Amino acid sequence: MSTSINQANTQLNYEELRIEVREIVDRVIKPRAEATDREGIFPRESLESLAESGWNGVLIPEQFGGRGLDHVAFAIAAEEIGKGCASTSLVYVMHVGAVQTITLYGNEDQKERWLNPVRAGSIGTYSTSERASGGHWWFNFSEASRDGEDYILNAEKSFTTSSGQADFYIFQTRTPGAQTPTDVSFFIVDGELPGIKPGVWEALGVRGNHSGPIVYEGVKVAAQDKLGTEGQGREILESGVSPVYLIGLGSTWLGVAEAALSAATEYVKNMIHRDFNKRLADYQIIRQQLAEVKVLIESLKPWQISLAKQLDELQVQGRPLVELLLPLVEFKIHAAEVANKATKAALDVTGGYGYKKGVFERLFRDARAGIAMGPSNNIAREWIGKALVGLPLELWHEGGD
Ligand SMILES: Cc1cc2nc3c(=O)[nH]c(=O)nc-3n(C[C@H](O)[C@H](O)[C@H](O)COP(=O)(O)OP(=O)(O)OC[C@H]3O[C@@H](n4cnc5c(N)ncnc54)[C@H](O)[C@@H]3O)c2cc1C
Repeated sequence: MSTSINQANTQLNYEELRIEVREIVDRVIKPRAEATDREGIFPRESLESLAESGWNGVLIPEQFGGRGLDHVAFAIAAEEIGKGCASTSLVYVMHVGAVQTITLYGNEDQKERWLNPVRAGSIGTYSTSERASGGHWWFNFSEASRDGEDYILNAEKSFTTSSGQADFYIFQTRTPGAQTPTDVSFFIVDGELPGIKPGVWEALGVRGNHSGPIVYEGVKVAAQDKLGTEGQGREILESGVSPVYLIGLGSTWLGVAEAALSAATEYVKNMIHRDFNKRLADYQIIRQQLAEVKVLIESLKPWQISLAKQLDELQVQGRPLVELLLPLVEFKIHAAEVANKATKAALDVTGGYGYKKGVFERLFRDARAGIAMGPSNNIAREWIGKALVGLPLELWHEGGD
């Protein structure tokens, strides 16, 4: 695992960075959020604006055209983007995670070829989940075959954010000779290769992020795009894919919760019942609900920054990021739950008007994705519960089936 990046970031001014992202969100991303959702439009222009400002390469070392920032900066960016548009933030999180997997586990040639184009707008994503193993996305039943030195990929992936839109996929499958469904390997798959067939994405929320099914049929990938070694999948999953994804995912839901609270607060301050000349904000029950959400949000903020800082420290020390897996999973669960509580409260305090098509019902629908996205909150709580009582997590097949 590469450890040479992001060691000089001790003096970053995070508040300035937050203001910088917020400006892009307010100018480009937030104004498009409604149409992105309503029409299921992939947020291409929003991503382009993030690429132009270098935020798409937030964690990429400067030598490969990135900004060489750290996990704190990334978490702040995901949160701010989440405030403006959940669909865009999820695409962004998958992209940064995919790119970081290459930074950590790619060879020099792969970094040259796949990281440099990010500055010009190239988008990556993860393609891991398969229907046969559902939310246990570290299990794959698909298997690549060999073609000389190269590989032929065949798989039906059940969900892949940015499917059909991404320039490259961090693709997980088994290779010939794999002994178990968790003996997986990773490939970087060029989105232009023949045989990639994205399906339709129609869902309750995050309708712009194209997280639909995708079929890989006889996709030929050159040996030079195998990421890491065969069978290194577990390490890549635990220390490459998951940590960045989880801090980004939790930060997105924190942003969604904040957006719901801020929009609801504005609404109740301005809506006046003329019969008694009372604003909605003048009712105690309304203020109580907002306060409850505010407290939950505040509980997430220091936790988010602390986890991101710990990720940076582990990386600088060259220690495996898997050490933080369970705390990151706990953060993901809580952030998704808080987003759901916040958007539910926002719908409640804004009454029938909140229920109509618009920001409140959109945020409510978007937040539901947080519960299901891997690891689903049910699965994630199982891990934490098992760890608490000293039971093995039983995530990996150690022997044959
Ligand atoms: C918006 C969105 C974006 C996504 N993006 C991507 C992506 O970019 N790349 C990718 O690879 N995947 C992606 N996924 C897939 C995601 O990570 C999960 O794999 C997927 O949501 C699992 O759905 P399923 O219906 O197969 O779940 P199932 O596993 O069938 O789950 C059904 C129910 O059973 C529960 N359950 C399942 N297993 C257990 C268990 N062991 N213990 C307790 N409860 C359990 C679940 O919590 C859920 O309530 C995305 C999903 C969504 C919704």
